[in-house]
Amino acid sequence: MLAESLAAAALICLDPGHGTAPAIGRQKEPIGPGSPITKIKDGGGAPGETEAVLAIARRTRALLLRRGYRVAMTQMGSTFRGGNIERAWVCNRRGAALMLRIHADGSSDASRRGASTLFPARRTGWTDDVYGRSRRAARAIQGSLVGATRARNLGLVEPSDLTGFNWADVPVVLVETGFMTNPIEGRLLRTSSYQWRVSRGLAAGVAAFTSP
Ligand SMILES: [Zn+2]
Repeated sequence: MLAESLAAAALICLDPGHGTAPAIGRQKEPIGPGSPITKIKDGGGAPGETEAVLAIARRTRALLLRRGYRVAMTQMGSTFRGGNIERAWVCNRRGAALMLRIHADGSSDASRRGASTLFPARRTGWTDDVYGRSRRAARAIQGSLVGATRARNLGLVEPSDLTGFNWADVPVVLVETGFMTNPIEGRLLRTSSYQWRVSRGLAAGVAAFTSP
């Protein structure tokens, strides 16, 4: 019962990607605290990505609530008004046990398919405080996501230049749930049944991470 009540107290912050108005999306922001390097707030994502990942986030939220988690969302519609610094701060402010960013990939090569999970590269002063826990969450979530969907396993990726990672003060991962540009996977990602499968994988991964 103790593990269960601890899990019940955990807050998961879901961050479905994109959906920012272009006038805000094209603004630039530093990729980490004090960095001279800037990137745009939102490039818009792959075709159909915004709608698919929002639907997956809503389904994941329902499953997590059912499991007893508290859940915050950076956006409930496709209307996020800030950049990736603001997204991180939505989750930082709430002291989330995990910031789970949900995306889908795009490629000019239509044959590319599969799922991957990103977590922040270690950088002193930016991500060193959340590195270990983020890596552990990434392993758990990638495993359960691939298990639930049977998507091709593209493994873990450890980028150093993601603004939404470098400003996070809570453990953070970003799932690329599949390729919108692959004819088969892109069609699946737009269906309710496959969105539920992705969501079940994500919720099981969160549970594995928060109850070691
Ligand atoms: Zn994206």
